[in-house]
Amino acid sequence: METIIGIDLGTTNSLCAVFKDGKPILIPNSEGQFLTPSAVGMVDEKVIVGAAAKDLKVNKPELAALYFKRNMGTDSDFKIGKKVFNAPELSAVILKTLKEDAEKFLGHEVKDAVITVPAYFNDHQRKATKLAGKIAGLNVKRIINEPTAAALVYGFHDQDADKKLMIIDLGGGTFDVTIMEIFEGSLEITSTAGESFLGGEDFTFRMAAWTLQQAGMNFEMVEFRKPELMARMLKLCEKAKRSFADKEEVEISIPDEKGELTDQKISMSSEQFTEITAELMKRLEKPVIRALRDSETLPDEVDEVILVGGATRMSLVTDFIKNLFKKDPCCEYNPDQVVALGAAVQAALIKDDQAVEDMVMTDVCPFSLGTEVTKVFGHQNQDGYFLPVIHRNSVIPVSREEVVYTMYDNQRQLNIEVFQGEARKVKDNIQLGELKIDDLPKHPKGMPIHVRFSYDMNGILEVEVFIPESGKKYSTVLTNHAKHLDEDDLQEAVEKIQKLKFYPRDDLRNRRLLLFAESVVGELNVYERQSLEELIDTFETALNSGDKDYFESTQNHLLVKLSSLGHPYKSNPEGLTE
Ligand code: AMP
Repeated sequence: METIIGIDLGTTNSLCAVFKDGKPILIPNSEGQFLTPSAVGMVDEKVIVGAAAKDLKVNKPELAALYFKRNMGTDSDFKIGKKVFNAPELSAVILKTLKEDAEKFLGHEVKDAVITVPAYFNDHQRKATKLAGKIAGLNVKRIINEPTAAALVYGFHDQDADKKLMIIDLGGGTFDVTIMEIFEGSLEITSTAGESFLGGEDFTFRMAAWTLQQAGMNFEMVEFRKPELMARMLKLCEKAKRSFADKEEVEISIPDEKGELTDQKISMSSEQFTEITAELMKRLEKPVIRALRDSETLPDEVDEVILVGGATRMSLVTDFIKNLFKKDPCCEYNPDQVVALGAAVQAALIKDDQAVEDMVMTDVCPFSLGTEVTKVFGHQNQDGYFLPVIHRNSVIPVSREEVVYTMYDNQRQLNIEVFQGEARKVKDNIQLGELKIDDLPKHPKGMPIHVRFSYDMNGILEVEVFIPESGKKYSTVLTNHAKHLDEDDLQEAVEKIQKLKFYPRDDLRNRRLLLFAESVVGELNVYERQSLEELIDTFETALNSGDKDYFESTQNHLLVKLSSLGHPYKSNPEGLTE
């Protein structure tokens, strides 16, 4: 059977893993790193991916895109230079790069993949992820939930355990909570809850908004009108956010319009950070409580709390867990890596690998899925009510039926509107799609209509309507309202991505050093700046000259200079000047 790779397609970073010789292992990218920043940029009309694109975003924000996972399943476009992409296309660029890294590592072509998504991703977002896989030339064997993937790693390495785990997954843009029981190799997810627009980046944005306000600027105005200032501000806040791990107070410099640092500095204490992010922490609490309630678990019945996702490193998060569960969280496996490793374990399960033959795993549907119905109060009809067909936390795959009735005599038309959510009224839930029927048989009101929802292992929903009176069946795999989802559009997107010229891999590493050095320039005083700029110019000339010796000596000079200026270049994936 073909190799199936496991991919964690993250908001900020993506990783790839494979199940090999009885265990999951990570696949390094062309820079020898496991984490590839989910960033796409354009240099000289060629695409660059990963750390280089992330660095480019700081100096030339219009030439790079980040955080596009947050726009999966929507109509939003991203302009990079002269080209326009949607979120699945940009995700496809990342997936294509990871696929190529895997092929290089394994020494053969790779066609199949398991891709992880936040448990709280809705139908549109899951389909957009599947589409991204297709555009990248991958056959997406399974979409699995990120916390489920993390759980698989813990379950795989501890198959004899008998315990209850809570997985807290706070990534760059999404938050999921999952409760799971492991018993004699069987892994049973009992509940999942979360929010698909809450992650570490929200903490960074709050810091940036507060800091700009203290400096007398308006965040929205900066965000929309001053991209260079905004990009630099976010980078500085990201670094400051991490420093709270060992500092009580951080100083954040204020950049000017071009993104270059001024002398103005704003300090933020850890209490202030706690205060300005209190609303985000409150939002974290809700899904944790809901997951506990749904699986009828008390905090002290949870044996281990497992952290997943880079943002769980914030002490605000670990303190919150310690307070609620009265125990330290467990990070036996690197929170950045465990999801990709779990995707590889899932790939082994699909392939019936011997190493996982004793493992059985069940997952749940994280949210309720249902349709709009009209309620009758006395003689009054009131529409807009939500009738759940599949209740949240039902074990998947699941197929359930509800019977609804026509409202009028000889009613010929019916619109089955499909929603996801927990609210009583459909207006407060997310609309996923609709199924229109306009040939109902003539019949007095009250004719029964059977509505069946089937939710598969990938989290994709199919709706089926059966009219016993006419014997007719109608069905649809819900289509997204967002564009680029039909076959023609797909073909167009595949060709568009295939036609892109990618920056040569070997040159990319050097290009990244250049972009990194350029991103440091804005953080220096005028004298330091001049000397660094001279070295960057020489390095660029050497890079374009093709003279290996000349190139190597200028590269060394540049590396030494960066270190002496307090901005050592690390080929770390975060591209941070630490
Ligand atoms: P992920 O999508 O799992 O890679 O998570 C990325 C998020 O984790 C970003 O919002 C980062 O800012 C955040 N993050 C990573 N490391 C740290 C850290 N040491 N302290 C605070 N936040 C972090």
